[in-house]
Amino acid sequence: MKRYVVTGGAGFIGSALCHLLLSESDAEVVAVDRMTYAANQVTLDELSSQAGFRHIDADVRDVARMTEIVQSVKPDVVFHLAAETHVDRSIDGPAEFVTTNVVGTYAMLEAARTYWSDLPDEAKQHFRFVHISTDEVFGSLGAEGHFSETTPYDPSSPYSASKAGSDHLARAWQRTYGLPVVVSNCSNNYGPRQFPEKLIPLMVLNALEGKALPVYGTGTNVRDWLHVEDHARALKMMAEHGVPGEVYCVGGGSERTNLQIVHEVCRILDARRPENAPYADLIEFVTDRPGHDFRYAIDASKIDTKLGWTPRQDFEAGLEETIDWYLTHEAWWRPLRDKHYSGERLGVKA
Ligand code: NAD
Repeated sequence: MKRYVVTGGAGFIGSALCHLLLSESDAEVVAVDRMTYAANQVTLDELSSQAGFRHIDADVRDVARMTEIVQSVKPDVVFHLAAETHVDRSIDGPAEFVTTNVVGTYAMLEAARTYWSDLPDEAKQHFRFVHISTDEVFGSLGAEGHFSETTPYDPSSPYSASKAGSDHLARAWQRTYGLPVVVSNCSNNYGPRQFPEKLIPLMVLNALEGKALPVYGTGTNVRDWLHVEDHARALKMMAEHGVPGEVYCVGGGSERTNLQIVHEVCRILDARRPENAPYADLIEFVTDRPGHDFRYAIDASKIDTKLGWTPRQDFEAGLEETIDWYLTHEAWWRPLRDKHYSGERLGVKA
């Protein structure tokens, strides 16, 4: 039996990871999630129907509560994903990003350290704290080059700065206290169950409602796209074979400009729901995001050579499947769209 704590388990990547961990026989998975706007009750219900899964509604910033949870679950691995994650929201209101991403990571590290310090030697060696971060901590690339594990940190947004702070804490807890921490920095994820403020689901749902498809600036900013299931597999491999103190960059090897992504979404919808075609007529260029990084790209050769991980999902096929998922799961996204976020512009304060 393996026991896991997954913070942020009701969110996009956390829930994909929980599904993967539950596919192992006799795994016990405890999702710690405060159920912010970004969490999803349908996602949680799907997970809760599986044996071995449990949700605890708690705030990762609460160090006493996190300590109590980790002590009672006795995990082999803590995967720390809970975070505020939307760059535009971090521009409008950075406070939650600093408290959840920085203080929340401090609380999880302390909770894990308290538990880990009292373990017998063998269990101590096997325990892992996997801290999930982003390539955005490295700042922006020009037209050439890739981020790697040795790229200096140079974050541009309150979101990426708060994630950078959390990465430094995670590394420091490994160096200072010996806590077996592994850090991942990965590129833009896509796939089912992503909150519709992020580029791909926002474009799909706006298009279906005949709303404008807002493209920031000239749409030439480049992102590398990684399927969420490939990412979850990478995180599990890091927990199983990652070396404490090491960082692994995870990327999908699929660089696209934002405008290419939007056109690709439109092309797929033209075929799937032709009644409002051509959807590309809805594209509208809007004022750029303040501090918008130009390009992110990942050199994922370390995780390939050291852990044998490479992405499996072809981007075009993965995008089609993702759009099909949104088309067939209105019950998942409709309440979010009606109650929490209907597609309005965020993050224009500079
Ligand atoms: P998400 O916004 O979909 O989910 C975040 C989850 O954390 C939500 O379920 C939310 O309720 C929970 N949460 C937020 N604050 C909390 C708190 N104080 N206490 C407990 N739970 C809280 O995010 P995601 O896209 O799944 O990202 C997960 C992690 O991966 C984050 O750490 C993010 O920085 C990182 N990451 C994401 C991407 C991406 O493309 N989505 C890329 C690289 C790294």
